[in-house]
Amino acid sequence: MAFQDIEAELKNFEEIERQKLGLEKDPQKNQWQDKINREFYADQREHTTILVSGLTMAHDRFVQAGLEGLGYKIKALDCPDTDSLQFGKEFGNKGQCNPTYFTVGNLVKYLSNLRDETGMTPQQVVEKNVFLTAGACGPCRFGMYVTEYRKALRDAGFDGFRVMLFDASGGMNQTSGKEVGLKMDKEFFITLAKAIFAGDALNAIMYRIRPYEVVAGSTDKAIEECRQTIMTTLKNKKSILMALRRCRKILNGVEVDRTMVKPKVSIIGEFWAMTTEGDGNYKLQRFLEQEGAEVDIQLIVNWILYNIWQAKTDTKSRMVLRGSDDKARKGLKTTQIAKKFLTLKVAEMALKGTFYTFAKFLGLKNFKLPDMEENAELASQHYNNELRGGEGHMEVGKLIQTVLHNKAHMVISVKPFGCMPSSGVSDGVQSVITERYPEAIFLPIETSGDGAVNVYSRIQMMLFKAKRQAEKEYEDYLNLKI
Ligand code: SF4
Repeated sequence: MAFQDIEAELKNFEEIERQKLGLEKDPQKNQWQDKINREFYADQREHTTILVSGLTMAHDRFVQAGLEGLGYKIKALDCPDTDSLQFGKEFGNKGQCNPTYFTVGNLVKYLSNLRDETGMTPQQVVEKNVFLTAGACGPCRFGMYVTEYRKALRDAGFDGFRVMLFDASGGMNQTSGKEVGLKMDKEFFITLAKAIFAGDALNAIMYRIRPYEVVAGSTDKAIEECRQTIMTTLKNKKSILMALRRCRKILNGVEVDRTMVKPKVSIIGEFWAMTTEGDGNYKLQRFLEQEGAEVDIQLIVNWILYNIWQAKTDTKSRMVLRGSDDKARKGLKTTQIAKKFLTLKVAEMALKGTFYTFAKFLGLKNFKLPDMEENAELASQHYNNELRGGEGHMEVGKLIQTVLHNKAHMVISVKPFGCMPSSGVSDGVQSVITERYPEAIFLPIETSGDGAVNVYSRIQMMLFKAKRQAEKEYEDYLNLKI
């Protein structure tokens, strides 16, 4: 058969197949497109539930209470578990990061249960719920999360489900002219900030008390009481500082024995993996406590400080680096640079000041937020500060800071399997850091949803060293006293 005949036959075959599938002739028109539906208007508020999740249970529940106080119907989803992972793997694309599978799957699991248990049709589920989450443009796979949510929801039978992002959009939708359903105004962000600061402070104090409790379970009981107190306060728009003061009294009632010798283990790593409290990191925090350690967690406020540091650093670089639209000798012609620096400085001071006030009222003493400038400076010798994505240079900086300032006996860096910034870059650099600082006890672990036993045994081995170090420190201190 001549070449032209084969080509003609193939073209004919393609045409028949295209018609069968109802595809357009122009291949560009057949590309999958993310149908973005964010139509949530004020007149739908009454019968629409806003679903939130993704941080710790304290944060999610405080956000729920705070937004309920603003008049929204809102629900914090449960912490993602292994079932959520299964749902995520079933409906998500292949090769995604663990947090995508866990968080997307958690939403699909909730909506599927809602459909199956209440008898709602998928259409009703779509109409009566929206999901609120954080998004970013990357540069790692995080940039794909929102699209992944929409894709998995469509494949699970909830096509058109609305996934909303936190952004400071105004009160009116520019296209429809209708009032938007979720008003991200000053009051919204202040409420969110209160929920985040309260969640951070309560989590930080919880991890300080629980390892030393005399009566098992007494910390959890007190923490639950505190959570209820804070939720009621946020819901009723009462003074959060007074609520924290009441919580301090509740927490003071937990009997502790500070003479127990415990190694302090700092958890760093990929944001979601180190923040979640469930199967997503094999319940790492609980496991460490059961094994006799005190856990040092990373707060959400650290992430905000990192974002402020990024804005400051980028402005410093861009003000001397001309862009294509800068008509001046130096860059950022249209920006009032001094004003921008001042705004960022004020934001940083306000953030730190508010957190320390919350901490003081709650009774969280001697707690220091990380110094982002120092972190960047220390990390820059090994990790280019311009590299962003995930925690950027912070993981490297945190390990060095921990050793230099004697902040913890051991550092665990937890990240989902194949995390680009953490496994792919930071862990490579950390081997140099542990060589330069041989006293560092550092353990990188990857999570994949299974293989918990493997992870636990690796932690136990390293923890043994950290325990010996803590005991030695204690003995040295006692000998010094004598
Ligand atoms: S930081 Fe890592 S785990 Fe998180 S989205 Fe990026 S690549 Fe995935």
